Amino acid sequence: MRILIVEDSTTVSKILKHLIMQELGYQVDVAPDMSSALALLEQHKYFVVVADLNLPDASNGDIVRLVLSSYKTPCIVLTSNLDASQRRDILKLGIVDYIPKDNRYSYQYVVKLIDRLYRNQQVKVLVADDSVVSRKFVRMLLEHHLFQVIEANDGEEALAVLAREPDIQLLITDYNMPKIDGVELILRIRESYNREDIAIIGLSNDNDESLSAKFIKNGADDFLQKPFVHEEFHCRVLNTLDSLDMMRNLWAKANRDYLTKAYTRRYFFTEHNGKEGEVSTLSVALIDLDFFKKINDTHGHDVGDQVLVEFAQRLENAFGANFTVARFGGEEFVVAFKGLDSTKTTTLMNKFRDQCEANPISTTAGDLTVSFSCGVTTKSNESLDHALHRADELLYQAKSAGRNQVISQ
Ligand code: GH3
Ligand code: MG
Ligand code: MG
Repeated sequence: MRILIVEDSTTVSKILKHLIMQELGYQVDVAPDMSSALALLEQHKYFVVVADLNLPDASNGDIVRLVLSSYKTPCIVLTSNLDASQRRDILKLGIVDYIPKDNRYSYQYVVKLIDRLYRNQQVKVLVADDSVVSRKFVRMLLEHHLFQVIEANDGEEALAVLAREPDIQLLITDYNMPKIDGVELILRIRESYNREDIAIIGLSNDNDESLSAKFIKNGADDFLQKPFVHEEFHCRVLNTLDSLDMMRNLWAKANRDYLTKAYTRRYFFTEHNGKEGEVSTLSVALIDLDFFKKINDTHGHDVGDQVLVEFAQRLENAFGANFTVARFGGEEFVVAFKGLDSTKTTTLMNKFRDQCEANPISTTAGDLTVSFSCGVTTKSNESLDHALHRADELLYQAKSAGRNQVISQ
């Protein structure tokens, strides 16, 4: 990834270059004026250009206009103080953001913004609004920040898009829409999507003061009153996505095992303890690696860790898309096969066992063939604990019978 800084003050460009290289690891070129910037732009493809508005051989943002129109490269503008009309003019150009140079946090902000732009490329945003003009305006603002934008005409269409594209991270929705309005849409979404699944910002041009609270109380993360200015829009979007990232990190810390990234025991229980009266079939496979202690003793704890990570990954690849894979502790894992009886589960586990046997795990101590023993049982009208206890007994039988096998009820 390559960044171009166009700035005639060597103090400013030095600090920025250093920070961007150190914190993001990107390559950084510096041009002190417009003509050397043009020469560099002809040679390289830049991810972002950070440009001063006034340069020795150009002024009034000529460089910005050129970068945007001829090179289609996102542009972050460095400014001294701007008056109101200058501010309007540069925003009209379609820049990412403008940043005053006078402040010692500005440099940090530029770095954060570049990092955010990089990540935004993977972030899908759904814009639900019945007004084409408003939708296109929001799309344009989002595209300046490199988001992937999807549009929906109304709440009903938004729900259909969400069902089709479950990895949408942010929904920006208007209030007044035909069929399903913004608040109703949020209520429906929150029935199945938590705060860490999708963030929501409500939009409205209604003069109804209670609407902002109504949006938030019904599950939106934030609210914007139309018409809004560029800066306000971007700040809200970035803050909302920062909170989403934080929530996702916290959620992962609580529910994913630190070493193998498999689900934790805690998650497994909250997810599968079963609600009162639930009648769907659930089989559990309790898995324990054979002679794992020997791997630690022979090759060291680090190599043991590598085996655990790879084994968990294999379980996840084999079953994770449809079933829950969790690390129960040490070298013990569990998979919950919702909807499968123990015969089908045993067939799947035996197939997985064959694959493991045929594919040694490569570690820093060389290739190691690792086997496991497994107990499979189907939960009847009993507690999950009870079923797991039975699976544990079957696992113990598999160990006594010579290991590397699956035993079911
Ligand atoms: P068996 O076939 O009877 O299951 O024998 P085993 O050696 O696999 O079982 P045992 O319970 O005797 O040993 C499990 C070992 O797993 C002991 C423990 O130090 C090791 N272990 C537990 N957690 C970790 C971990 O996170 N990393 C590593 N490297 N080792 C771990
Ligand atoms: Mg073991
Ligand atoms: Mg064990």
